[in-house]
Amino acid sequence: MARKFGGYQGKGLRVNLSTGRITVEDTYKYLDFIGGTGLGYKVFWDEVAPRTKAYDEANKIVFAVGPLAGTGALCSGRTAVTTIMPVSWPQHLIGSGHMGGNFAEHLKYAGYDFLIIEGKADRPVWLHVRDGKAWLKDASHVWGQGTRRTTRVISEEVGADGTVAAIGPAGENLVPYSVVVNSRAHTAGCGIGAVMGSKMLKAIALQGSQPVHIAGDKADWEKLINYHRTIIGANNQHVVPNFPSPLFEYWDAGSRWVGAPGKRWGASEAPVTLTNDVRSLNRISYRTNNAAYFLGDNVWQYTVRNNGCFSCPIRCYTVMKDEDTAAKFGVSPVQFNTCVGMFGGREWFPKLSRKKSDLARQAGFVGIELMDDLGVWENYGQLFRDFSNMYEDGIWKQKLGADEYKSIPWDMVDACNPEFIKVAVNRIAYKQGEFGQLLGMGTGYMLEKMGIPEEKWKDDHRTVYWKMGHPKHHANEDDGQTGCVINTQYNRDPMCHSNCNFVRSGLPIDVQKRLAEHFWGSADAVDAIGDYKPTNKYKMIRAKWSIERKELHDMLSFCNWMGPWISSPNKQDGYMGDNSLESKYYRVLTGHNLDVKELDRCAERAFNLHRAYTARQMQTADMRKKHDQYPNWLFEDKKDKAPFTKGTIRMDKADIEKSLDLFYEVQGWDVKSGLPTANQYRSLGLNDVADTMTKEKLVPGA
Ligand code: SF4
Repeated sequence: MARKFGGYQGKGLRVNLSTGRITVEDTYKYLDFIGGTGLGYKVFWDEVAPRTKAYDEANKIVFAVGPLAGTGALCSGRTAVTTIMPVSWPQHLIGSGHMGGNFAEHLKYAGYDFLIIEGKADRPVWLHVRDGKAWLKDASHVWGQGTRRTTRVISEEVGADGTVAAIGPAGENLVPYSVVVNSRAHTAGCGIGAVMGSKMLKAIALQGSQPVHIAGDKADWEKLINYHRTIIGANNQHVVPNFPSPLFEYWDAGSRWVGAPGKRWGASEAPVTLTNDVRSLNRISYRTNNAAYFLGDNVWQYTVRNNGCFSCPIRCYTVMKDEDTAAKFGVSPVQFNTCVGMFGGREWFPKLSRKKSDLARQAGFVGIELMDDLGVWENYGQLFRDFSNMYEDGIWKQKLGADEYKSIPWDMVDACNPEFIKVAVNRIAYKQGEFGQLLGMGTGYMLEKMGIPEEKWKDDHRTVYWKMGHPKHHANEDDGQTGCVINTQYNRDPMCHSNCNFVRSGLPIDVQKRLAEHFWGSADAVDAIGDYKPTNKYKMIRAKWSIERKELHDMLSFCNWMGPWISSPNKQDGYMGDNSLESKYYRVLTGHNLDVKELDRCAERAFNLHRAYTARQMQTADMRKKHDQYPNWLFEDKKDKAPFTKGTIRMDKADIEKSLDLFYEVQGWDVKSGLPTANQYRSLGLNDVADTMTKEKLVPGA
């Protein structure tokens, strides 16, 4: 278990909560899977029977980071948490949540690359890991508490020099829509909170000062980080600003690069100016204010600073201070979050949905505290959409008992009163009444319980529902057939930004096409949004590449919300980014000489393992029909514009089916069943997987 490569600590912990036994394991047996999600999938393949359910004692939780964590590589603060999820419908399936914040580097500093949590404690416990040692401790004093108080209490006990990841009441009460939260606002969703709750594991505290070694030359490492700075954009790798400026050739109103002269956060010194030095750290972090992007320019005056994950210059979390709103609604005066976490509050109110206004900002402010403290997950906004659609359609009135319906303050919903968020989130976290229980179950189980066919949600564009209990996440609205196929591949929303970050970089389509030709072999690999052409092989090559880069990032601890950095803000380089950045980092860091192709192969191996495990869980030899589904709303247009008409994102069913054919071909999978072949598994070095899948008749033609 000695350290063999840079980046890795060489060991992980196995924590058995049933016996209290904690043992040390070798990281390098997982080297073919790099770390993060890859390591998680491998542990599940090797150790967890595929029919295991989320709350079974046999389920495990793998917290794993990759070699980049803790090194200072940009945007490398992500932890993958893999488990069998209670939210996938109609059965519990494997999935991962990914949290930023400060967990990843502190796991390394504590001396480990991963934690395998197994068994079930008979009383509430928390896990303390410090400098190569670990203890299970009594958590009865924090059981029942919110994540924020739990974090504070444990930090006071052990010192504030590390990080605490905790679950809230939602996790303790086995609410499927629950998260684990570290560093106050960084969450991993998909029901991980409830799986921890089922094991009576309240929190994990990490501390330590173990160094993370860089195998290569330190000067090369620093050069690489500086080089990375030159190709990084704003959040979502938007490489042009959202305002016209003589400093930049292009701009795009949809860009998250919102920093502009005259806009500044509270603590910054005026005047803030922009230069065209794209490497300037201040300029980089100044580019993104996600709160202003989502909630309007009014947010700038409440913005204290930007925040985010360890070693990320983008800092897409906006820290806001608003004493008036805090006093009015009884929440803390400082809140921070990003994306749906930040604007989710307003989405409880149909009249406020997607609005940028002061009331929307206040609702967001209240929502952050309630959701994060009680540890409730929103499933990429599906929670809010389900609530609102059912309210607008009168379904709550029909389905809830009269007394319960009356007990809910609907007038607050109509008045867009943020007090309502407290009512709703508390009911979910404490499973109060049918309302709270139904919303917290997740869409699939909720619909089933209410006797509403899943097809109804799949037919209705407003729901944004995709399949198996989860919503779309950057599909046809961003990336035509490529986005749609990616959305068919996971057991939850795909959380894949590799494709949409390229498409939404803000660069004009002719520049994107030039880059597409360079990276994927044809300018036809990308279309302008809403000007989609019939499918082709190159779009599917890009889909495969995007999934593999997403996996690779989740394996290395890179933020897939920022990468891959294949376009850049640099006019002088033709806006060309770098397809080999990940392997450049990997080689200098670890000393393990994998090139771009070999590293992508590791990601392909991990993704195929995820596919195999899912097919085993579902016991299906027809992944195409049973798993890779899509909703019917893809094929509708409000104005009935035909597919491929400029200005519509309406898809064509035969074209989507053809896209799946092409995708499976590009993957080397069987086109009819969507299953990897035994040879495919073997070519990826997954011989044991090939043998098991053949034995269980889960390969094509078996
Ligand atoms: S872009 Fe945001 S989520 Fe990604 S690493 Fe940076 S701060 Fe974290």
